Amino acid sequence: VDFKTACLNNVIEAISPLLQAEAAGLEKSITLDLENISDLYMDEKQIRQLLLNLVRNALEASPQGGVVTIRTYEDNGDVVLSVQDQGEEIPPDVMEKLGTPFFTTKEQGTGLGLPVCYRIADSHHGVIQVKTGSNGSHFDVRFSVAAVL
Ligand code: ADP
Ligand code: MG
Repeated sequence: VDFKTACLNNVIEAISPLLQAEAAGLEKSITLDLENISDLYMDEKQIRQLLLNLVRNALEASPQGGVVTIRTYEDNGDVVLSVQDQGEEIPPDVMEKLGTPFFTTKEQGTGLGLPVCYRIADSHHGVIQVKTGSNGSHFDVRFSVAAVL
């Protein structure tokens, strides 16, 4: 663990080429929409892992040619990292189990990506909110800036 004050946007931009390459390999793409946000007290390695897990899920859920959008913005004193896909709506029985260790609906899934995300969010005073609908899903990580600076 190595907590430092850093800008989330820089972390996203640094791993963007890797994410773009993964997306291109699946014939999908990634768009960044990064607003000016406050610095966070973070372990960069863990935040990279969180991003990677959410983006991989979003890419896997995306249709051919689909776009995954990574957004950052500030809302009510929180920094929000939002990963949005254009996949199918997540059914209620799956929504209920998100983050449960070893829960997966994939043939080759481990069901460990989201549990790791929830743990990392927690260690950063963050929470993960999931919204899903017919236009796709958002996994929003809300970091409370006030709690960590
Ligand atoms: P894995 O990806 O190995 O299945 P995860 O913990 O990352 O494990 O995700 C668990 C389950 O949550 C997935 O199998 C899938 O059913 C669901 N899920 C996660 N992210 C998404 C998403 N963006 N869209 C639809 N379903 C998702
Ligand atoms: Mg996963």
